[in-house]
Amino acid sequence: MRTISIFGITGSIGQTAANILVEQSNKFIITVITGGDNVAELAKQAIRLSPKYVVIANEAHLYELRSLLMGYNFEISAGRQALMDAASIPVDVSLQAIVGFPGVQCSLIAAKFSKTLALANKESLVCAGPLLQKICTTNNTKLVPVDSEHSAIFQCMLGESILSVERIILTGSGGPFLNTSIENLKHVNSKQAASHPRWSMGQRISIDSASMFNKAMELIETKELFDVSIDKLEVIIQPQSIIHSMIGFNDGSIKAQLGPADMSGAIGYAINFPKRESLLVERLNFAKLRQLDFLPVDQLKFPAINLATRAMNIGGMAGAVFNAAKEQALDLFLIDNIGFLDMAICVEFALNEYELNQIKHNYIFEDIMEQDTHTRVRVKEMAKGL
Ligand code: NAD
Ligand code: MG
Repeated sequence: MRTISIFGITGSIGQTAANILVEQSNKFIITVITGGDNVAELAKQAIRLSPKYVVIANEAHLYELRSLLMGYNFEISAGRQALMDAASIPVDVSLQAIVGFPGVQCSLIAAKFSKTLALANKESLVCAGPLLQKICTTNNTKLVPVDSEHSAIFQCMLGESILSVERIILTGSGGPFLNTSIENLKHVNSKQAASHPRWSMGQRISIDSASMFNKAMELIETKELFDVSIDKLEVIIQPQSIIHSMIGFNDGSIKAQLGPADMSGAIGYAINFPKRESLLVERLNFAKLRQLDFLPVDQLKFPAINLATRAMNIGGMAGAVFNAAKEQALDLFLIDNIGFLDMAICVEFALNEYELNQIKHNYIFEDIMEQDTHTRVRVKEMAKGL
């Protein structure tokens, strides 16, 4: 049996992981589960999974969590420090499924104390890729991506050398606005943006998918994870979300990984790596599916992709700037302070400002935190004029 900790159990990835852990209960002993605000869901999962430690990040919910779990034998704690302490408990597998920048520090700590880091929190690679990779190398930690595209690339890379890779082709569904005109995109609201046609995900990543900021983040994630040059990265729309990504090799051959649009596959793969364990997911039926479509990305409608390329070219902490500006812009969009297309303007503004500074190539996590805070403040100020 392997020990496992799940950070962000109350979210979309976390709950899917919880279902797999119930299905594979003879394979895992659960050490830690954590949640942010959803105390009822955290308590429900604790009772279901019997972990040793239960942590709620928002301290205000500690009393409620204790009363919901009265009579059970869990060690309960709350707050940011408790979360970091939980990440320092040695385990075989640590699943990082907290959303956004708050998950980055948790991944960096867990990378020291777990044998396998099953990484869903893409912000960790976007904001702190080189730091995370260094910690994994130093501590002999295996980093296995959970993002479906990166899981696909990871699986296609097994037995291959990165030197034979000619191109990495990330696929994207195109999101809910694939066929919406740029004129209409100006007026879409957060509810429309959050309704993804293929994947069932948390609210933030769903809206990022609609703007293609999610795909943009995934480009940076790919570069950090597989250490490929920017000119080898491509994005193609694959509306059925059946091909999860592909690699083109130097002999013209292409490897792809296919599966249903269900994160169970990538989560199950990462937590069981290097083994494959059976999963109760839908099996593809090609006769029913009949066709797979491909479309180029409309760069005018979705400027996020070019902005990601720009961030990668700038280097230094541009990934952290990109993410902070995007997260701040999304917060403003969610409260109707800015429009859907303004989010890209915010990110472009932040990259412009960062490029004017001296780019720091040697940085520590505290520098990233400082840059994150600074970028959010600047974007908020600028957005008042939008
Ligand atoms: P979600 O919003 O559904 O869940 C996020 C989790 O993080 C919840 O448990 C929440 O309580 C916790 N959390 C939020 N803020 C926190 C804080 N400040 N401190 C501690 N915990 C906090 O998100 P999700 O869709 O499950 O995505 C999780 C991560 O996985 C994201 O980085 C996302 O980009 C990535 N990812 C998600 C999917 C997907 O299908 N949902 C696919 C690929 C990658
Ligand atoms: Mg993805």
